[in-house]
Amino acid sequence: FNQHSSRLRIAMQKSGRLSQESQALLGSCGLKINLREQRLIAHVENMAIDILRVRDDDIPGLVMDGVCDLGIVGENVLEEESLQRQLDNEPCDYAVLSRLNFGGCRLSIAVQQESAYDGPASLNGKTIATTYPRLLNRYLKQQGVQARIVTLKGSVEVAPRAGLADAICDLVSTGATLEANGLKEVEVIYRSKAVLIQRKDLADAAQLKLINTLMPRINAVMQANESKYIMLHAPKARLDDIIALLPGAENPTLLPLAGNDDQMAVHVVSSETLFWETMEQLKSLGASSILVLPIEKMME
Ligand code: ATP
Ligand code: MG
Repeated sequence: FNQHSSRLRIAMQKSGRLSQESQALLGSCGLKINLREQRLIAHVENMAIDILRVRDDDIPGLVMDGVCDLGIVGENVLEEESLQRQLDNEPCDYAVLSRLNFGGCRLSIAVQQESAYDGPASLNGKTIATTYPRLLNRYLKQQGVQARIVTLKGSVEVAPRAGLADAICDLVSTGATLEANGLKEVEVIYRSKAVLIQRKDLADAAQLKLINTLMPRINAVMQANESKYIMLHAPKARLDDIIALLPGAENPTLLPLAGNDDQMAVHVVSSETLFWETMEQLKSLGASSILVLPIEKMME
């Protein structure tokens, strides 16, 4: 692994909750990634880019130390590493290039379902297990709460039942894991998504140019993921009411329907998907043949 190679190095999670979507995002941006399952480094065939596949915990440090140029990682892991490095007086510079539209979760405090909870002060004198001691410590300080923090790398959710802690501070998305372990969520202390970060002192002209090519593509892919192409038939008399129901549809395309003078086809790129409720309202206004299609790419 050549430190002075001019190939752009992107760190992403090898296997876990972020790996598939990180890979899919880069794939949608045109990178042909030659992934051989167990390899640490994957070469991109059609661009001067190498992909480093590592544990997500290692990604912030690799970028902050300048070993990798870009990284895709959860904000929770990034912020925890930053706080730790500030405390240790280690380098912790980076730039966030983009907040991505996956990996969403929240870092929450949870207590046993049967325990009484009446605000953060209830945590005074308690023991809280977490994988994110720095983020938790910052929150407890802000709240003026004195609690003991136990750092666990895994199985945080079983700590209360095992008698290791009174409460936990862990990542939640649906809450199903908490419920399965007899816990209830009582405070959200941090909201996270995946982000694309860049090391601060990147100066290589070819690498910067490559990043300038990638960024509009990443933004285009994210925008396309969130947008839908909507087609429907609408009675001419109700056109305005129907268009008003379509999210982000300022300039719809209106097309005549062969052999039908009372109706028109309406085509529109919508900024969000249509909920069933909206579809039903459209139908009650006389719309028919309603199609909601995914968009693969878009550029404004
Ligand atoms: P690694 O082996 O790479 O260290 P890990 O077990 O630490 O993996 P994962 O569970 O794969 O990490 O989660 C990676 C990231 O996915 C989290 O840090 C967080 O940003 C995000 N994430 C999204 N939803 C959830 C969730 N429900 N629980 C945990 N993490 C989530
Ligand atoms: Mg990890």
